[in-house]
Amino acid sequence: MTSLGLLHHVEIYVSDLKRSNDFWGWFLSELGYTLYQEWEEGFSWKLGDTYLVFVQAKEKYLDVPYHRCRVGLNHLAFHASSRAQVDELTEKVRSKGMNMLYKDKHPFAGGDHYYALFFEDPDRIKVELVAPE
Ligand SMILES: [Zn+2]
Repeated sequence: MTSLGLLHHVEIYVSDLKRSNDFWGWFLSELGYTLYQEWEEGFSWKLGDTYLVFVQAKEKYLDVPYHRCRVGLNHLAFHASSRAQVDELTEKVRSKGMNMLYKDKHPFAGGDHYYALFFEDPDRIKVELVAPE
């Protein structure tokens, strides 16, 4: 098993590190990630050979907020283990009052054979959790 070509890491700048740590720490641990690095301005979570890094954006760059419709990252999609896991996390997202997307079409917002949960991180980055087909 080689990691050739797989994502090594992704780094995302956030507007409020504490808030993002609460959100991503919860979600990524549900998927089996473990805390990998933590320092004053950031943290990372790792699964296998891939890790996600979150860094506090500097104050002077916070004047233009993130918007997923602008050029740049639109969303991050993760594999779920099963449809049951998608359902379980959907319940948790609801009960935590997080912003779920495409509620009217859930869980088939991505298509008839595509079972997924869509929601938002605290900076409104779209997060997707997809069940295996
Ligand atoms: Zn997607």
